[in-house]
Amino acid sequence: MTEQTAEALPTASTSHVSKYTRNQPYLSEVLVNERLTGPDSEKETIHVELALEDGMTYTPGDAVGIIPTNRDVVVEGVLKALGFTGSERVLDHYKVEISLDEAVRTRLAIGKLARGSVNQFAKLCGENAPAGLKALLGVDNKAAAEEYVWGREFVDLITDFPGIITDPQQLFNILQRLTPRMYSIASSQDAHPGQVHTTVRVVRYNSHGADRQGVCSGHLGERCQVGKVMPIFLHENNAFRLPEDTSAPVVMIGPGTGIAPFRSFLEHRQVHGEPGRNWLFFGEQRSISDYLYKDQFAEMQKQGVLTRLHTAFSRDHLKKVYVQDRMQENAAELFEWLETGAYFYVCGDATRMAKDVETALLDVIAKGSKGTLEYAAEYLAAMKKQKRYQRDVY
Ligand SMILES: Cc1cc2nc3c(=O)[nH]c(=O)nc-3n(C[C@H](O)[C@H](O)[C@H](O)COP(=O)(O)OP(=O)(O)OC[C@H]3O[C@@H](n4cnc5c(N)ncnc54)[C@H](O)[C@@H]3O)c2cc1C
Repeated sequence: MTEQTAEALPTASTSHVSKYTRNQPYLSEVLVNERLTGPDSEKETIHVELALEDGMTYTPGDAVGIIPTNRDVVVEGVLKALGFTGSERVLDHYKVEISLDEAVRTRLAIGKLARGSVNQFAKLCGENAPAGLKALLGVDNKAAAEEYVWGREFVDLITDFPGIITDPQQLFNILQRLTPRMYSIASSQDAHPGQVHTTVRVVRYNSHGADRQGVCSGHLGERCQVGKVMPIFLHENNAFRLPEDTSAPVVMIGPGTGIAPFRSFLEHRQVHGEPGRNWLFFGEQRSISDYLYKDQFAEMQKQGVLTRLHTAFSRDHLKKVYVQDRMQENAAELFEWLETGAYFYVCGDATRMAKDVETALLDVIAKGSKGTLEYAAEYLAAMKKQKRYQRDVY
């Protein structure tokens, strides 16, 4: 990894000069693909470094789009269940003729099953749908259909209801497109010229008697070793940006893979020698196996780049502790930072964490200001307006 000095660097720019898009991606070489979590961790989180071409630029806060391909075993399972060889010819979404194998491997979402796919599939039967399939159709059977699709993939549907697809082209009406997945960028380009880094949690689970993987994270976790090439594009996110005022304090809440953009923020502030104070809250299950980028953050603390660092390892304690608990424990100081104009950022899980963190933040404001929760809500609304409360949650 190359490090540069602050003097030699261009300033942060928000403009992207790149000809590569999701429809015309850049074929990027995998430079590093290593596991961050320890062998005893319940999670498999990896650090992936990808090569960029000259002229491809990004700003901390941006994401990288990665275009996955489906796993061999899943592709073969689908072709076998359909009774096709894969050499049949089909027209892709742009009406370009390709082999069925290529279509199933690179164009069609044969991973987790969507309810819409079940409906489209059933349409092929007209009135003659098997009873089991009919029981998944219509508004009255929505709950049954949702239960059916949960944890299932397309191969399960065609195995449960065989012989319905007779023409390979029908797959394009049934299945959604295989779409790129977004990953928050975990690096500063000024610290790592020509590279983009990501922090990816590999999704693996067992359901209905089979071991499954997330399409893209599984692709990155299993099939993208160093030297392989994969299609990517850079995705601008102007709603998640470091303050323009380089001396403004920054508070970052990034549990799990939510840490990614904050590694980017911190590297950027470090490499540019920006004077603003930085406070990071990181959370995961266990410090021994799940402390992502531990050494790098320790070094940043030593150098004074990371002014404050609080961790919450939920499984290290009898009573589970989360980032929002650490915020509460440090409420007075956190409010003081807000009062001095700190920018507050949240990244990671949208379903629970982001809500719990917002509740804690409102509480911190109410306590610190000795005001009501209504006052805290107004305070937070004002922060939002000033772009001092930014979230990147998924
Ligand atoms: C702006 C943005 C930034 C992001 N940044 C990051 C990042 O930095 N790091 C990161 O890791 N991810 C990030 N993500 C999420 C990422 O884009 C993918 O959604 C994620 O990697 C899963 O994609 P996949 O293709 O591996 O899984 P998919 O094939 O899409 O499958 C995931 C789905 O599998 C199903 N599933 C999962 N577990 C189970 C289970 N136990 N039982 C049954 N079904 C299950 C669920 O329906 C889940 O939605 C980000 C998303 C966005 C939108």
